[in-house]
Amino acid sequence: MNIGIVGGGIAGLTTAIALQKLGLAPTIFDAAPKFEPVGAGLALAANAIKGFQKLGIAEDVMAKGHALDGFHIFDQHGVLINRTDSRAMSAKHGLDNFVIHRANLHQVLLSHIPSENLKPNKKAVNATTTNQGVTLQFQDGTQETFDHVLVADGLNSALRQHLLPASVPRYAGYTCWRGIIDNPGFAAKYASETWGKLGRVGWTPLADNKIYWFACLNAPEKSKELAAWQPKDLENHFKAYHHPIPALFAHTQPAQLLWHDIHDLAPINSYAFGNIVLLGDAAHATTPNMGQGACQAVEDAVVFADELGKDFDFNAAGKRFEKRRLARTHWITNQSRTLGKVAQSSNSLLIPVRNFALRHLPTFVNERQLEKVYSVDF
Ligand SMILES: Cc1cc2nc3c(=O)[nH]c(=O)nc-3n(C[C@H](O)[C@H](O)[C@H](O)COP(=O)(O)OP(=O)(O)OC[C@H]3O[C@@H](n4cnc5c(N)ncnc54)[C@H](O)[C@@H]3O)c2cc1C
Repeated sequence: MNIGIVGGGIAGLTTAIALQKLGLAPTIFDAAPKFEPVGAGLALAANAIKGFQKLGIAEDVMAKGHALDGFHIFDQHGVLINRTDSRAMSAKHGLDNFVIHRANLHQVLLSHIPSENLKPNKKAVNATTTNQGVTLQFQDGTQETFDHVLVADGLNSALRQHLLPASVPRYAGYTCWRGIIDNPGFAAKYASETWGKLGRVGWTPLADNKIYWFACLNAPEKSKELAAWQPKDLENHFKAYHHPIPALFAHTQPAQLLWHDIHDLAPINSYAFGNIVLLGDAAHATTPNMGQGACQAVEDAVVFADELGKDFDFNAAGKRFEKRRLARTHWITNQSRTLGKVAQSSNSLLIPVRNFALRHLPTFVNERQLEKVYSVDF
């Protein structure tokens, strides 16, 4: 069985590893000139680690990550408004939550894929189904035919939009800066977010004494003014926030700054289209509020390979994959979008009510939600 994968991000690479375990050797195409990740930190919850365990690479991933003790939410003055003890949940599920530098995760995934199967500089522009299989057309004018194609080209998937023209990304209403810096000496064992009227800032320790931070601001899409912001603008904007938030930005160099508007994909009802199947963000991009986009891509890889391994009937496996994945990925997308609205509230009347409610939220409510996130069906 000859399979082409479009997109060498977390979904494409992890699925390639899962298919290799079935004895297949998929070819992976990526539009970028090199299989090199862009991005900052990435939370990998226990469900993703369970997926990597299935593929036999969890030890490698965990060795590059940083295990987290918990997740805390503060108000802008540094008063704790909610706390989740990851260790307690991890003990229950037998696995920790990790945060990892995206580049390190890609390095691990790439180390498990033969380099001759990786084709950079190949931007797919169309996929046509013929009697011979699926022909991928690339921007450079070349084409290649496969028995089957997995589409993992991310949120803005060109191939998904051919299959489902209405499935365009939707703006979440907030924009996000991220950075990875050397830790100037801030003590932290847990991930935290600070929610305030002026926006939301999160930070977490990474391996090798580094820190990953992000800052989200409600803003119009593609703001020219915000595109020009430098770390000092963030430092100034968040100057009234508690320590170490302004200091995180003060320790960030302009070259360390990443900026993206936040989008997701309104849930779609099909991931399987005969001998073409959508995976990862191409199928179900979510806002990052639950830290689950990449984790769901890992689950996709495991579930798709699990289904394919049953009878090696790609089209039937695609349909079974879709059946197993639709409800869970829709739930994540919807929950995450709602959580983003709550976290990004700038309404001075609602913020104290929200914070009061969060402060008094019974622990079992948080735990029940996490239970559902961590519970995989493999
Ligand atoms: C600010 C932010 C923070 C996040 N934090 C987390 C987190 O903490 N935890 C988590 O689990 N998730 C997180 N996510 C989500 C996570 O980044 C994505 O869900 C994940 O990267 C999806 O992987 P993917 O492989 O499906 O898509 P992508 O990572 O987008 O990879 C797609 C690949 O396809 C390639 N490509 C694109 N178009 C083409 C084409 N036409 N032809 C060939 N190749 C193409 C691209 O070059 C890219 O390599 C975050 C996202 C954002 C924006």
